[in-house]
Amino acid sequence: MLKRLLALQALLFFSCTSEAQTINITDTLYATYGNYQESSIGKRRIKHQDIQPLIDQYRGKEGYEVTKVGTSIEGRPLHLISLGNGSTDVFLWSQMHGDEPTATQAIFDILNFFDSKDFSGEKKAMLDELRIHFLPMLNPDGAEVFQRRNTLGIDINRDALRLQSPEGRTLKKVRDSLEADFGFNLHDQSIYYNAERTPKPATISYLAPAFNYEKDINQVRADAMRVIVFMNDIIQKYAPGQVGRYNDDFEPRAFGDNIQKWGTSTILIESGGFPGDTEKQEIRKLNYVSILSAIYTIATGQYKDIPIEAYENIPENDRKLFDLKLEGLSYNLLGNEYTLDLGIQRTEIDNSAHSDFWNRSTIADQGDLSTFYGYQVLDASGYTAVPGKIYPKTLNSLEAIKGMDLLQVLKDGYLYVRVADLAKSNKFVQYPINVLSTNYKIPEFRLTVDSNPNFLLQKNGINEYAVVNGFLIPLQGQQKDFRFKNALILR
Ligand SMILES: [Zn+2]
Repeated sequence: MLKRLLALQALLFFSCTSEAQTINITDTLYATYGNYQESSIGKRRIKHQDIQPLIDQYRGKEGYEVTKVGTSIEGRPLHLISLGNGSTDVFLWSQMHGDEPTATQAIFDILNFFDSKDFSGEKKAMLDELRIHFLPMLNPDGAEVFQRRNTLGIDINRDALRLQSPEGRTLKKVRDSLEADFGFNLHDQSIYYNAERTPKPATISYLAPAFNYEKDINQVRADAMRVIVFMNDIIQKYAPGQVGRYNDDFEPRAFGDNIQKWGTSTILIESGGFPGDTEKQEIRKLNYVSILSAIYTIATGQYKDIPIEAYENIPENDRKLFDLKLEGLSYNLLGNEYTLDLGIQRTEIDNSAHSDFWNRSTIADQGDLSTFYGYQVLDASGYTAVPGKIYPKTLNSLEAIKGMDLLQVLKDGYLYVRVADLAKSNKFVQYPINVLSTNYKIPEFRLTVDSNPNFLLQKNGINEYAVVNGFLIPLQGQQKDFRFKNALILR
C-alpha cells in the first residue's frame, strides 16, 4: 500500500512538473516566435506560387518527406510534408477555403521551427513519438482569387461524402492512408464573431466536431476535446476572453465531422479577428504557439489527464460585432427626430490581381443595437447625423486633392469633391473625402441598411466627426483612434 502511495506521489509530482514544463515551453515559443516566422508570406492574400518554393526547401532534406498527394482542378499540385519517426500520426491541413490563409502561414512557421537547431530536447520528444504531416493550402485555386469555394464552385467542406472535388478526394485519401490519430482542420472565420455575451472578438474558435446527430462523445472525440481545453488555456494567456466554441451540430457532409467519425481525433481551429490586426499576423502567431504546444502535449501524452468537462466551459461563438458601432445618434426623418444605433461593416473588395483590397462600408444594421458590440464604439448621444455637402470647386485631377486642407474641408461639412478627369480603373482614393465624377448625383440623404455611410455628426451646429465610407474621423481636438483606409470614387 505504502509502495503504491509513493508511486502515486511520484506520478503526481511528475505530472505537475511536466505541466510546468509545457507552460514554460509555450512562453518561450511565444517570446522567440520572430526567429521562425516565415517572412515571405506576411499578408492574407497568399498564393500557391508563394508556398511552392517553401515546400521545395524540404524536398530531399534529411528527416523530411515531401509527397505530391493530389492536384487541384486547375492543376496546382497538393503536397504533404511529413517528419518524425513515431507511431502516432498527427495530420494538419489548412485552407480548404481559399480565403482562409492564417494557419497556412503558421504551418510554415512551425516547419521553420523544426528546421532550426533550437529546442532540441522538445523536438526530439515530438519526433520520437509522432509522425507529423502537413497539407498546407488544400484549395490553391480558391486562394488564387481569394475565394472560399474551389473552381467547381463548391464548398469543399460539404464534399466529404460525394467527393466530387479532387481537393476533397485528396484529403480523404491522405486521411485514410495515414489512419491519423489526430487531425487539425485549420480555417479562418468571420472577424465579426465574438465570445458570447462579451464584446471580445472570437480570435480563436474551437470545435471537436460531432460524429452523429446525437453528439455522442466517444474516446476519439473526447481526446479532441482534451487537446482543445489545453489549447484554450494557452490562448487565454495571450488573448484573454477571446476564445469561442463553435456550434457542434452534426453536419453529415463536412470533413471535420466525418474525419472524427472515421476515427481521427479532429480539432477544428478557426482564426477570427483581433483588434487592429487586419492581416491577422498576431493571430498567426497564436496559431503557431498553440498548435505547436498541442503537438507537444500529444507527444508527451499529457493531454490524457485533462477533464473534458472544461470543454463545455469555453463560451460559445456569437456573431455580434461590427467594425464601427455608433450608439444613440439623433436622426431627422421627414421632420421628426429619432434615436438610432448604427452598426457599420467594412467589406473588402479585391483588386484585379487579388493581391490587395480596398474597403466599401455598409450599414449592416440600425435601430436598438444594445445587444451588439464594435471593434470601435462611439457614444453618439447628443450628436445629430447630417448629410455632407459637395465641395464648391471642381478639381481637374485626383492629384489636386493633395493641395486641399482636408481637415478644414471636412470641418466645413464637405464630404464629396468633384474631379473632372477620372481614369475608369480608379474605384477608391486614400484621402478621407469621396470623389465624384462631374455628373454624379448624390442620392437624398437617408440612413438605410446596406447603404454606404457618409455623414457628419454635429453637436450645437459644430461638425465634431465625419463618417466617410464608414470610417470615423474626429474633426475636433486630438486625432486619436483614427483608422482611415479609403473613400470611394462615385461615377
Ligand atoms: Zn473555413
